[in-house]
Amino acid sequence: MSEPIIKFDKVTKKFGDHVVLKELEFEVQPNEMVTIIGPSGSGKSTILRILMTLEPINEGVVYVDGEPLWHEESNGKLVPASQQHLRKMRSKLGMVFQQFNLFPHMTVRRNLTEAPIRVLGLSKKEAVERADELLDMVGLADQADKFPAQLSGGQQQRVGIARALAMRPKILLFDEPTSALDPELVGEVLQVIRQLAEQHEFTMLLVTHEIPFARQVSDRVCFIDGGAIVEQGPPTDILTEPKKERTKEFLHAVL
Ligand code: ADP
Ligand code: MG
Repeated sequence: MSEPIIKFDKVTKKFGDHVVLKELEFEVQPNEMVTIIGPSGSGKSTILRILMTLEPINEGVVYVDGEPLWHEESNGKLVPASQQHLRKMRSKLGMVFQQFNLFPHMTVRRNLTEAPIRVLGLSKKEAVERADELLDMVGLADQADKFPAQLSGGQQQRVGIARALAMRPKILLFDEPTSALDPELVGEVLQVIRQLAEQHEFTMLLVTHEIPFARQVSDRVCFIDGGAIVEQGPPTDILTEPKKERTKEFLHAVL
């Protein structure tokens, strides 16, 4: 097996006295599609937010693409990461949020070109070309000049996915990307995620309650509860014949 592209090595995360992740051990292989399921408050978003460097950790080491995320190596020792190191590591990841988080005062196209121009240093022409390709890919080529509020939730989330891709990340993180959508709009967003999963060009980490979808597209499903992995494996094992009682109860409640 190759080196993992994501590795949590005994990671502990606390909010005050509340231990949210306790010595978590978790690995993802390059180009793997992993779905994380688990009850509310189990630590799913925290795992993604740590990877996006939106939350610091208390103990352990997180590795992304072979390098420590929250630390740097100096004289063979791990020291806290500099802002420069964090920026470099952050650029390897793109995140799609439950609430879309688009820039409301910018057109759809500008939502996709802003960061590539400012952060990656692309020319406006290059950024626009890339944006229009991505909007075409998510089926929104004709919506480029609209503002987010003029789009449906499903369209906004497809823009959210295109915007994450515009930064050319190696790793895509999805935090309940369809939970805020009306039921009839869920399918169009899942279709885009399915297309990305089938390309196998990205490493994908998806938090979702869409169990039938997870069964179809995941290489591996991870059930977490109380900040720890209860069981993980191929979707057919975990979602069809779970071994642990807690997994069975959870699936019974959500299915
Ligand atoms: P999930 O995404 O699985 O629902 P989260 O990762 O959001 O769970 O949260 C895990 C636990 O951490 C919950 O008990 C939550 O209340 C707590 N938590 C999350 N963010 C914060 C925060 N900023 N401050 C204090 N507690 C938090
Ligand atoms: Mg969450």
